[in-house]
Amino acid sequence: MSIDLILSEIVSKDDIILSQDQAQEKFGGGTEGFKRDISAAVIINNLNTIPQILKKANELSKSKDEFVLYPVSSGKNWGYGSALPALDIKPAVILDLSNLNKVTYFDAKTGIITVQPGVTQAALREYLDGKGAKNFMVPVTGAGPMCSIIGNALERGYGITPYTDHFAAVNSLKAYLPDGQLYQSALCELDQSGSDIIDKSFKWGLGPYLDGIFTQSGFGIVTELTFTLKEKPEGFDSFYLRFKQDSDFEQAVDLVSDILKMHEGIVGSINLMDRRRVISMMADNPNGPGSHKVMSQEQVEQLSKEHDVPAWTIAGSIYGTKRVVAAARNDIKKRLRGLKCQTIFSSGLLIWIGRRAVNLAPDSLLSRERRMIQTLDMGIDIMKGIPNEVALPLCYWRTAKSKDVENYNPARDKCGLFWYAPLLPMDKIKMRSFVEMVRKICTSHNIEPMITLTNFSHHCSDSTIPVLFDLSNPQALKDAENCVDELVSQGRKLGFVPYRMSINQQQKLLDKQSVFWGLVGNIKQTMDPNGVVSLGRYGA
Ligand SMILES: Cc1cc2nc3c(=O)[nH]c(=O)nc-3n(C[C@H](O)[C@H](O)[C@H](O)COP(=O)(O)OP(=O)(O)OC[C@H]3O[C@@H](n4cnc5c(N)ncnc54)[C@H](O)[C@@H]3O)c2cc1C
Repeated sequence: MSIDLILSEIVSKDDIILSQDQAQEKFGGGTEGFKRDISAAVIINNLNTIPQILKKANELSKSKDEFVLYPVSSGKNWGYGSALPALDIKPAVILDLSNLNKVTYFDAKTGIITVQPGVTQAALREYLDGKGAKNFMVPVTGAGPMCSIIGNALERGYGITPYTDHFAAVNSLKAYLPDGQLYQSALCELDQSGSDIIDKSFKWGLGPYLDGIFTQSGFGIVTELTFTLKEKPEGFDSFYLRFKQDSDFEQAVDLVSDILKMHEGIVGSINLMDRRRVISMMADNPNGPGSHKVMSQEQVEQLSKEHDVPAWTIAGSIYGTKRVVAAARNDIKKRLRGLKCQTIFSSGLLIWIGRRAVNLAPDSLLSRERRMIQTLDMGIDIMKGIPNEVALPLCYWRTAKSKDVENYNPARDKCGLFWYAPLLPMDKIKMRSFVEMVRKICTSHNIEPMITLTNFSHHCSDSTIPVLFDLSNPQALKDAENCVDELVSQGRKLGFVPYRMSINQQQKLLDKQSVFWGLVGNIKQTMDPNGVVSLGRYGA
């Protein structure tokens, strides 16, 4: 019997089953060019179906009809594997949870909120606005409005609002274990009040901390997540510090580290971006979509001149009461004394004049300035927890966007993208060697070296290097794969270790014989002896 037929006997009438072809069509693409066979998919509308399917998967696990479930929330893990199964060794069924999209709890006083897997950034914004709770920030990411809150937190993703580390803001979760039992924390189990408010309010529970094992793993199917929303403070400002020379990098790193140290909790994470990365936000690829070569130095200089892009740009934000923001702004200005960098605050006169000029000019004029102001304003919205698509055009650097649709979807549009996302110590010498490594390796594989350093503490930074390529060009795909492999292997030698990996890198790099991954294997064996959930995801 085909898997979709088996599934049709156990799901409820509300759930939707996709055949092999339909499932392959809906989930089989991605930005990475990875190939996986998908046998079927179930779009879950009824939560109670999940334990039924798990039961069936266990029952059939040693038979010819065996299958493995791969849950996704919105399935847009672009650059890391999109919605594809981690492994290709057993028939895979995608469990699409995107229709489970309710906010099941919200306390407008504390900002504590419980969401189901299908709640996206946009849906959460809409929910909060509808509840008159505009004062709370959505934990946005660059992946845009249509991406889920749960999938991102389970990948331990990062954003740029003050609660930068999205899993850090999570207080509790509930999940179906592979045997079909519902997991909840020990606090929840002990609480006899009929409510789980205490569990929702306290991250560490009681006894061994187990909620975390559901992140970057394949130990269960998470059905709800409770986290604290950050309230938008009364005061806000964003700052842009522009360094002209590439050799100013070291000064910029010291500056970022000092600002983060001085203003922990007031300044959100700070991005430090190189010229090529900022050009990609301001201009189209001068070599056109489908190209497989990096910009020449002349092209970079020309575009920098046209769009006024410096060698290094720092972008950060200050949150607090108006007086705190003003004090932090003054401290930052003081710290900038003697440095050769242009300083722009979004609250300042320069931006005000720019906005005004653009608003007053006819549409046909100031198009470059209009794009700059629009990009800036969308970036500011992101910092305020209002999701938008400002970061998504990046994926189209070497791929044309579908003309007949407005929104961006890099997987649908067959954009080629891998992320190289290593952690770096906040040390200017190490960071310079990282920059040089990325430039050398990317260029040698015809990949544009675009550098972003997301500095989330004064001692650690997470870099995200987009490896962008034309997915329709087999040579470009090969080069991109080799590029990521070399970045990872060279980086490890220098102490730059990824915080997150694509599904293929997980298979290549995680050594099942090591003590750590051996333990992960043992936990998996105990929790999921038949291997029915997310087999192969992060060593599981
Ligand atoms: C231009 C661009 C910018 C980006 N910017 C960022 C950024 O700023 N920060 C960032 O973190 N990422 C970023 N990303 C990467 C990625 O697209 C996002 O992290 C995205 O949120 C992940 O996709 P998703 O939310 O659809 O998660 P999903 O694809 O639904 O989930 C990811 C994985 O988690 C597991 N999973 C999901 N839901 C469940 C569940 N309910 N139970 C058990 N397991 C589950 C599955 O294994 C799944 O494959 C960016 C991508 C692009 C293209």
